[in-house]
Parts: sequence; structure tokens; C-alpha cells
Amino acid sequence: MTKDSTVLHIGFDDTDSRKGMCTTFLAYKIVEYLKKEQVKFLDYPYLIRFNPNIPWKTRGNGAVALKIETKQPQLIKNKIIKFIKKYSATKDGANPGLVFYTNNRIPEHFSKFGKMALCTLVNRNKAKEFAEQNDLETFYLGNGQGLVGAIGAIGYHFRDHTFELISYRDESNFGKKREISKDSVMDMQQITYPKTFNNFDILKNRVLIAPHGPDPVFFGVRGEDINSVIKGASLVRSREKFSSYMIFRSNQGTGDHLENKLDIKNLKPFSSGYLVGQVSEKPKIELGGHVFFSVSINGKTLKCAVYKPTGLTKMACKLIKGDTVKVGGGIRKASKKHERVLNVEFFEVYSLSSHVVMVNPLCDKCKKRMKSKGKDQGYECIKCGRALTKKIKKEIPRQLEKQLYLPIPSAHRHLTRPIQRIGKFNTRIEFDNSKKWFCNLN
Ligand SMILES: [Zn+2]
Repeated sequence: MTKDSTVLHIGFDDTDSRKGMCTTFLAYKIVEYLKKEQVKFLDYPYLIRFNPNIPWKTRGNGAVALKIETKQPQLIKNKIIKFIKKYSATKDGANPGLVFYTNNRIPEHFSKFGKMALCTLVNRNKAKEFAEQNDLETFYLGNGQGLVGAIGAIGYHFRDHTFELISYRDESNFGKKREISKDSVMDMQQITYPKTFNNFDILKNRVLIAPHGPDPVFFGVRGEDINSVIKGASLVRSREKFSSYMIFRSNQGTGDHLENKLDIKNLKPFSSGYLVGQVSEKPKIELGGHVFFSVSINGKTLKCAVYKPTGLTKMACKLIKGDTVKVGGGIRKASKKHERVLNVEFFEVYSLSSHVVMVNPLCDKCKKRMKSKGKDQGYECIKCGRALTKKIKKEIPRQLEKQLYLPIPSAHRHLTRPIQRIGKFNTRIEFDNSKKWFCNLN
């Protein structure tokens, strides 16, 4: 680092709305500007997804962080504030937050804040307090809820990471239908597997890389490294050409929001994480095909909900009392209508109890099941007349395995760890500025 330059961490969140703007596009615009100012990039832009189970999240609850070295920090800060003002959808309910932090390194306790934002509901006042105590410069619009993600993003500690190449449409195409060749996405998935993930849901015959709304995103390809997502994007065919792209380092596909062990004695609404317990009430299918069961943990009971779109209901139905399971998901707040519930995002069977039922006895001689002679009157073979007094135990084979059960890809959230990533961790945080992580074709 040269003597007169500073390392600047920039974080922002909650600039988008359901109607159009998108935090990653704003990030693209800001990086485009920073490139013109000749700043030195010290890492790829971060796209950090936070707790998907909080009630007021924007579409993906995603925040962005940038790490740069510059000789003119004040100029850059002023300009970025202008970008936030210009591109935030405050009229549509966005509450943007922006933070600047000037320091070579991020102190360790920043990552605790990021973890909190990943797994719980963090009040905006906590973020404002944190900013004050740690010399963060803040700027916000609306109520400032976006400060939570903004701080969380700059301090995010990657246990594992993935990349996403997000391509953007030419402005003339905003709002128009995206026409992407389904075949090309299927091929791309096949060619790049397992280096990319969640491009196409074969079960649902559905393209997963493109959003459907009016936002500027054309499509996004997720994968393990820069080369793979570039390769994946190059295989997507459409008459519409994307005009630009940017690659983010992300916590998508890491499942990190569910690494948090929940405390059964102190379950906070909207928190995410996991619990291990015994099935205490067998699964019941309710209206709409959703499945509910209960688990008992240290004498306390928690109701679990498995929703139909997850594709997990069929297997969840096969759980029986006494099975030991790990369940992961978000805590839904109790209301007048329903008790507190864990919305299940995965379950893993640790042990299966034996499924024993009582059945009529068999006749030794004829190998036939005996018939009941009436209440409390025992059982009789209708062929030879042999009689017995009691039912016998019969073990029914279990149709579940001791394994992890995940939702189908189309029900995955940004953070869901796909099956192909189980046991895979990208831990080397290196930055190669010679890779084409930013591209403007205009
Ligand atoms: Zn018989």
C-alpha cells in the first residue's frame, strides 16, 4: 500500500424493492464508477445473503460489500452516497443503509455482528449503536434497517464461499420477458456440473438462473470458482444479449444460516438454525398437503412444519415416534391462530426406531393369518380351526434412511446448501484481479 492511500470498506443493503431496483445492480454501477477513478480493488465484491426468515426482508435479503484502496476516500464516499440516493427504491419501501469503514483490516468482533444478522433478527438500533462504537461512518434513508446488512456484509467471515456471475440487461429490455433457451441451460448444467449449481430443476423442468420481475438482472450463474461461472454464462443462449456482468463472492449455497444451534429454552421468533430431538408426535398431513410433526428436545416440544413446495413432505411423512432427527429452518412467530413453529428447510435422520405393529397371529400349520372371533375372544384359523388368544408383534420395514433430506432445487433459498455441495468448503480467500470479474460490453 502506498503511503497516501487508505483501505476503505464499503457496505450497503436494502436498496431494492419488489418493483424493480436491485442491490447487486447498484453495486455494479458503483464498481463501474470506481474503475473510472482508478481505485485498487482488494477483493471481489461480496454478495451476502442474511437471515431469510425475517419478516421485512426484501426479495433475497442480500447486502453488498466492497473493499478498495484509494487516495481520495472523501470524493468516493460522496459519490457513493449520491448513487445510493439515486438508485434506491425508497418510495417502494426500501430502507437503504450504507457504511464506510477505514482500516486495513476488519476487527474480529465485526464477524459476530455478521453472524447475528445471518441467524437472527437484528434491530436497526443495534446497528446504529455498533456503528457509533466502532467508528463506522453511516448514511441511511427511511428507517435505516439496511444498516444491519451493510455492517454485516463488510464484517462477514466466510467459513465457505461460492461465486455468482450476475448479468444485467440493456436498459431497453427492462420489464420485458426474458427469453432464455431452456435447452442451453440444461446443457450448461450438464457441462459445468459439479462446478456450478442450481441452474435448472430437472424435476420441475424449470430454469432457475433467471428472475421473473422487472429488475435489471438478466440471469445469474452460481458456482465454485470464477472460471466456472464465466464458462457457465457463456453457454446460456438467448436472442437478448446481456450488456454487462459482475462476479460476486458470496455465502450463497453454503447453508451457513442453519449452522446455528437453536436453544429450545429460548427460541426467538424469526431466528434460523437447527435442533436435534426425538419425534414425539407422528407426522400429520394438513390442508394444502403440508406436513406437521413434533420433536421433543430436553423435555420441551417444538412443532415442525414441512411445506408442500419443498418436496420434502413425502419423506417427512415416514417419520415415526422415537426417531432421532436434526431439523433445520426458521422459527415462525406464534400468533392467535397457530403456535410457534419451526419451518423446516432440511431434516437429517440420525436414528430410526423400529416400527412395530400388533397383528393377528399366524397359523403355524396353514401359514395363514387368523381371524378374530370377536372382541376379547381370541383368534382362529378359518382353514383348520386352530386358535390363539393374543395378537403378535410385527416389524414393518422403515422407508427412510439415516441420511440428510433436502428440498428440491426450485424450493431452495439463496443460502440453501445444495446436495452436490455437501462436505465441500471453499476456504482459500484469494483475489485475482486479472480474472474478468467485471465486464461492460456497452
Ligand atoms: Zn390353520
